[in-house]
Amino acid sequence: MAKRVVIVGGGSGGTILANDLDPHTYEVTVVSASASHMFQPALLYVAMRGAPAAIARDERGLLPSRVRFIQDAVAEVDLTAQTVMTAGGERLPYDEVVLATGILTDPGQIPGLAEVNAAIGDYHSTAAQAQKLWRQLDAFRGGTIALGQASPVCKCPPSPLEGVLLAEELIRRRGLRDKTRIVYFTPYPRAYPAKPMDEIVAPILAARGIEVMPFFDLDRIDPATRTLYSIEGDQIACDLPIVVPPFIGADIAYRPAEVLDASRLVVTDRQSLRVKGVEHAFAIGDGTNLPTSKAGVGAHLEAKTVAAALAGRPAVFEGRTNCPFDMGHGFGTFVVGSYTAPVVKSPPTRWKHFMKMAFARLYWLELRGWLDPVIDVYFRMTAPKPAP
Ligand SMILES: Cc1cc2nc3c(=O)[nH]c(=O)nc-3n(C[C@H](O)[C@H](O)[C@H](O)COP(=O)(O)OP(=O)(O)OC[C@H]3O[C@@H](n4cnc5c(N)ncnc54)[C@H](O)[C@@H]3O)c2cc1C
Repeated sequence: MAKRVVIVGGGSGGTILANDLDPHTYEVTVVSASASHMFQPALLYVAMRGAPAAIARDERGLLPSRVRFIQDAVAEVDLTAQTVMTAGGERLPYDEVVLATGILTDPGQIPGLAEVNAAIGDYHSTAAQAQKLWRQLDAFRGGTIALGQASPVCKCPPSPLEGVLLAEELIRRRGLRDKTRIVYFTPYPRAYPAKPMDEIVAPILAARGIEVMPFFDLDRIDPATRTLYSIEGDQIACDLPIVVPPFIGADIAYRPAEVLDASRLVVTDRQSLRVKGVEHAFAIGDGTNLPTSKAGVGAHLEAKTVAAALAGRPAVFEGRTNCPFDMGHGFGTFVVGSYTAPVVKSPPTRWKHFMKMAFARLYWLELRGWLDPVIDVYFRMTAPKPAP
């Protein structure tokens, strides 16, 4: 009899895995809170360029017909009894479970941010929020823009800097640069957390006149005056606060509860991707506590690692990252590293920007596994060298 695999979450990781599993060996069920699948990197362009907001597709259509798809939120995962319970009351026993639930923005963690977020929008949650932010930028006629991340954990680590660089490009193109102060704030000691990449980014920010405020742990915002206050005692008064909110793991009750950390991230073995302390359970993607970038590329490689493990092949996740980074004005780069290799100092080029933009068109094929041979060669060719 085929083994029952339940995949919780139909985002990048869950969908890639469901397409990879052998239908003769596994009876696969994907349970996802949403019927649609959003290409999240496009939120940046909806918010900063006014690009079309139709960036999602029907999840069912991205899965092989043999995979059962249930659109429902999962309420509970009992890792001891090996069952998944949906909010609608369906009980799904499993032989193996894979948790691929991503992370959610949680502006309520910071006083004043929920109000500001509701008024201004953001580019890390929904297309409607990204459109709202675009309307704010589109109507902006000069003043101070403050853009940054509220907490160290961030979906797609380059995305806060991508936001400020694209906002600057927009303001410059509109002839508003002389009338606009742009401040980038970050809880880290420098603009990009990894030093080799900061050595690339810092001169670009300086050349474009973007002020950087490091060590800015956002404590609270006064929505009336649009002033941001940090735990360290600094403040930024601005006209347009664009804040990447804090994130939190999915709202699912686990037994045992100890598999979650304080941010509701699943405590996961960094190489085997097994949920720590329990059997027959894996976790992949943004919803894990793995010490690597929260990015679609990671979710891809983690899904492939779990597929290999389930197929009985050697399966070790090496923490590889390969985050595309749009630096504005037609230039881009990639943030490449792994558990053993420090981030590569990779200068921006037009070609790398083109690759980022081209990938947006290829994403839907990637989910189905149709690009695997090309992607495998690319990862081999661009593998970072381990530290000596
Ligand atoms: C602005 C922006 C730019 C980005 N740019 C890039 C980029 O250039 N390159 C890159 O590689 N990555 C990028 N990313 C990150 C990338 O989109 C994510 O890292 C990736 O989608 C993570 O995949 P995942 O499967 O872990 O989670 P997700 O794709 O977020 O999927 C999570 C799934 O879990 C489901 N779910 C949640 N809760 C429940 C529940 N209770 N029950 C059932 N289902 C549930 C959701 O409905 C969803 O289907 C970007 C993200 C943003 C926001």
